[in-house]
Amino acid sequence: MKEVKIEKCPYCGGEELIESNVSSMTGTVCVTKGIARYNAILFATVCRDCGSVVRLFCKTPENLYPKKERRA
Ligand SMILES: [Zn+2]
Repeated sequence: MKEVKIEKCPYCGGEELIESNVSSMTGTVCVTKGIARYNAILFATVCRDCGSVVRLFCKTPENLYPKKERRA
């Protein structure tokens, strides 16, 4: 997996970012939308200062469908 480094919030410039697992809410969404073969746990990076979700991502991109197999 490629490393993505977020140093500050693009919305408010805040530098305190929290990364947390949000799979209980969205873990199955990945599967039903045809993104992943099986559960790909979603994580969110949230700004501590303004509460914006700066990034929503899967930590296991190897579980995702290859581009050509992906069903829309
Ligand atoms: Zn912010």
